[in-house]
This record gives sequence, C-alpha cells and structure tokens, in this order.
Amino acid sequence: MLHDVGMDIGGSTSVSFPRGEVRGRSTVVATFPVDGRHGTVVAETPFHPLDHTWPDQPADTGTIGGLPVADCVTGAVMDGEETVHLGPDIPVRRGTPGWSWLVVHVTDDPVTDAEVELAVDAEARRSLSAGHTACHLAALALNAALAGRWRKEVPADGLGHPDFDQAAITSSRIVPGGSVDVYRLGKSLRRRGFSAEGLAAELPEIAQRVDALLKEWVAADAPVRIDSPGPELTARRTWHCGLPGAEVSIPCGGTHLSRTSELGSVGVTLELSEDGAELTMHTVTG
Ligand SMILES: [Zn+2]
Repeated sequence: MLHDVGMDIGGSTSVSFPRGEVRGRSTVVATFPVDGRHGTVVAETPFHPLDHTWPDQPADTGTIGGLPVADCVTGAVMDGEETVHLGPDIPVRRGTPGWSWLVVHVTDDPVTDAEVELAVDAEARRSLSAGHTACHLAALALNAALAGRWRKEVPADGLGHPDFDQAAITSSRIVPGGSVDVYRLGKSLRRRGFSAEGLAAELPEIAQRVDALLKEWVAADAPVRIDSPGPELTARRTWHCGLPGAEVSIPCGGTHLSRTSELGSVGVTLELSEDGAELTMHTVTG
C-alpha cells in the first residue's frame, strides 16, 4: 500500500527516545491517510516505532495532540518522491541512503494542529526498556555459558566469548519485562564450529550459569547508555554497558534502562525444539 503525502517531507524524523525521553512538543511535518486511519509525521518525536528490518521492540503507545496512538510504524520516502512506504512494504533496508526515514504515528482521528504534544505511555515504555536491557545481558551471559562448545575460532563478543548470539539468532522479540530469543542450531552453525552434542541434557546447567552471571551483573549496578552518531531515526546507535571487567557494546535501535540494578532480578529458561534445531531463550525480569 502506497501513501501519497502530496509534498516533499524534506528529511528524516529526529528521535528523542534513545536518550530516554517520553514527552515532547513538535511541529507537524505531514499528515496522510493510512488504510482508513491517519498517519502523522512530526519533526521530532519521543515515540519508538516498530523497525521494519529487525522488528524486535514493539512500538510505543501514548498520545499525539491528545489522540491515542493506535500504532507507530517506520515509514520511508525516497528523496524527491512524495510516496511514503510503510513497515514491511519498505523496499530497502533500514537506513539506506537517498531515503528519508520517518516515525509515523497512526491515529483513528486526524491530527489537525500545526504543533502537537507527544506523550508516550511511560510505564509501558519502562517495561519494554527493562525487557530490552535484559535481552542484551542474557545474550552475553548465554555466550559465556556456551563458550566451551565452540571448536573453531569465531568472532567474540565484548566480553571475549564466542558470539553465539550473533552467529545463531533468527528472531528476537522484546516483551514487557522480558524477551524471547530464537537461535538456529543448524548445519551452518555446526560447520562454523559449534557443537550441539548433549546440549539437551546440559540445558538446566547452562541456564543456571546464565542466571548466575545475570545476578552478578544486576548486583554490579552497571551503567547502561545509548550512543548515537546523529538525531535521525536510523542513525547507527550503540548500546553500551559497563560490566565488571569490560565495557560492552552492541548495535541497537531500541530503548533501555540506565543501570542494570533497575532490573531487579533477571532469569532465563532455555528450551530445545524436539528436532534439536532450535533453541529458545525466554528472559524474564522481576
Ligand atoms: Zn537491542
């Protein structure tokens, strides 16, 4: 579905969610119909939209100009064009040059003001931020717990462990207060040197090792921050965490807490599919 805005949008949306903002006031840049509803683009927003390339963190909820935001999606418009592509219909990868990248706030009623207040549901945001911070920490802990299963050299994570997470992940979903990460243990991973032998039997012990590391990292009250090379939606942002012994960084477009202690507690459950080809990690905070 194409959405004609009838004007030159003139640049990507600036976003304030990477620095933890949940409120803002901004000029309306464009409004256009979105499948019987209404899309609004502003110059700067605190709203985190669902990413179309790696849709891990769900969209923020809240209000724009006092109207409930029913959905918040990524939009893209090619420079010099007036047609916005939305979400899965965007034909290029996140951040492709020559395109403007937009946060599109979808409402049931039209936004008519030239300037609007934006307010994200702060409680919902906080539980997604907790889930996302826990997700990254759990991935690092899983890398550590599986380090002994690699028979060949593979790229290491920020703590020096073989990066199982990066090598095997097929999907990551942030949920309120947690995450669900799915890893593929196929032939290509084995060819790269990962041994899945006896994994099913060892899973409880691996989960225990992951939980012990997470407990240590929460107790360490490590600082978390997002570095951004620019204000635009698709700037290549990086998550940093000052864990004991190393400052770790992971590319990330989402939102996070500012200290690991804010998580309270974090634990994982690990589940192997019947055919042994898929490992699922559920991370829960509390
Ligand atoms: Zn992330």
